[in-house]
Amino acid sequence: MSTHSHQTRSAWQTGFRGKCPRCGEGALYSAFLKVTDKCNVCGLDLSQEDAGDGAVPFIIIIAGTLGVGIGVWVMFTFNTGVWAPIAVAFPVVAAVVLFLLPKVKGLLIALQYLNKAGDTGGNTFDNDT
Ligand SMILES: [Zn+2]
Repeated sequence: MSTHSHQTRSAWQTGFRGKCPRCGEGALYSAFLKVTDKCNVCGLDLSQEDAGDGAVPFIIIIAGTLGVGIGVWVMFTFNTGVWAPIAVAFPVVAAVVLFLLPKVKGLLIALQYLNKAGDTGGNTFDNDT
């Protein structure tokens, strides 16, 4: 269907940057975390993608480690109670989650595309790579 030539790009070059996993040019999202139905450049059907909650465990590990680290550092450095570390760590954790969630979800979608993965054992995408 597409008239574009498609060279294989890494998932970091496409999905992590919020770009279509096939062409690397079209936008992957139509809104925050809302995957577009179809790439507006190459026409890849993204309506069947199903990264689900796959990105969440990675984000929890990264943001949780960072939040606990910051909280412990604040608590012991400034000898504070419990609320000061929470007040300092919470905005950092929230920002990290909001920043990384679309990137990691895009990375997982691109990896599904590149590895021709599907929940039912078949291709999720109409894959021509
Ligand atoms: Zn595309």
